[in-house]
Order: sequence, then C-alpha cells, then structure tokens
Amino acid sequence: MSRAVIALGANLGDRGSTLRAAAAAVAAVPGVRPVASSHEVESVAVTLDGPDTAKPRYRNAVVVVDTDLGPQELLDALHAIEDAHGRTREVRWGDRTLDLDVVALQDDDGTDVLVDTATLTVPHPRAHERAFVLAPWHDADPSAVLPGAGPVADLLAAVGDDTERVDEPRLFDEPTRASRPADATAATDVADATAATPPGAAS
Ligand code: ADP
Ligand code: MG
Repeated sequence: MSRAVIALGANLGDRGSTLRAAAAAVAAVPGVRPVASSHEVESVAVTLDGPDTAKPRYRNAVVVVDTDLGPQELLDALHAIEDAHGRTREVRWGDRTLDLDVVALQDDDGTDVLVDTATLTVPHPRAHERAFVLAPWHDADPSAVLPGAGPVADLLAAVGDDTERVDEPRLFDEPTRASRPADATAATDVADATAATPPGAAS
C-alpha cells in the first residue's frame, strides 16, 4: 500500500463541481481510499509564457489517498477520470476542464517513493514552486513534506501564497454550501469538522 498526494486543477466549465466530482471519482477507484482533502483555492492561470489574467482563473485542490495501485496504475486511473470530464490535450499548460497530477508518493512505512519514467515523474518536478499545489496540500496536511525539497509550509512561505480560499467545504465533505438547505447548516458543519481530516490537521 502507498499514500498518494494528488493535485486537482480546472479552469474551464463548472470548476467547483468538476473538482468535487473528480475527488469522489478518485476515492471510488477500486484500491483507493480517501485520507484527507483540502478546500479549493483560486488563482490566476499560468501558461508557458507566465501568468495570464486574460485566461479563465483556476480552481485547485489536493486530496490524499491510500492506494493498492502501483504508480503507473494510479496515473492511468487519473487519466481515465480526466477523460470522463472532457479533458483534451492540445497545448501543454493550456486551458483544461480537469488536470489530475500525482504530486508525491510514500510507502506504508513512510519511505518516499521516487518515480522517473517516460510517463511519470514523482515527486512532481514543479510542485515546489506552485502555490496552487502547496497551499491546498498544506491545508489537507499541515505537516506534509515534499521529498527532496522540505516542509510544504516552508516551501509555501518561500514562494508566497497568492491563492484565494474558496468558501466551500473540503473536497471529501459531501454537500456544497450552495446545495445545502439553510436549516441543515449546523449539522453538516459538525461533519465538516470531522470528515477526512488527517491526524493533527486543522479542520
Ligand atoms: P500538465 O499537467 O503538465 O499540464 P498533462 O496533464 O497533459 O500536462 O500531462 C502530460 C503528461 O505528463 C501526462 O501524460 C503524464 O504522462 C506526464 N506526467 C509525468 N509526471 C506526472 C505526474 N507526476 N503527474 C501527472 N502526470 C505526469
Ligand atoms: Mg497533468
């Protein structure tokens, strides 16, 4: 078994619904079990030419899962979920309905798993410089460490957090605020505070 950190991103379509559906789809893959999840964050699109305020803004989030799948099997499952959400691949770093990246992997004894094949590089080579990965990862797991780079909290402080927290529940919490009846808020807020939170994590 291994523990996987997966980054989710979208800048086309109903981004929040897509991220929530994608997180549920990841958790529903046979051999995958949800562990923790972040809130969504929003930030400016980054293209190969740099930040582009003319492009639709991104929503990003991070989920942590345990899995019996091997690294490539996990990536294949993530690609199937991207495809199910209408992902096309024309331009590298181009606009997309859904992007699912494997950020980091650990064995069940806590050893970092390093992968470098033609199709998969783990840890993700750009995770350390991306606030839209580091901020939600830190939110999902405040004690997270990026192998070879250091504590996620320190990396985030170094790059500067330019993301904005979206006022919705964590991805592995069930209802969205928009879909919740007003009189159910108190009950579901209790669920928010307890669901899918790693040991020691702030809710
Ligand atoms: P990007 O996420 O860089 O914008 P894509 O999502 O289109 O681009 O991914 C391009 C390729 O990157 C994938 O087909 C996959 O094989 C490869 N790849 C390498 N390492 C990873 C990783 N850690 N997570 C996801 N994809 C990866
Ligand atoms: Mg990708």
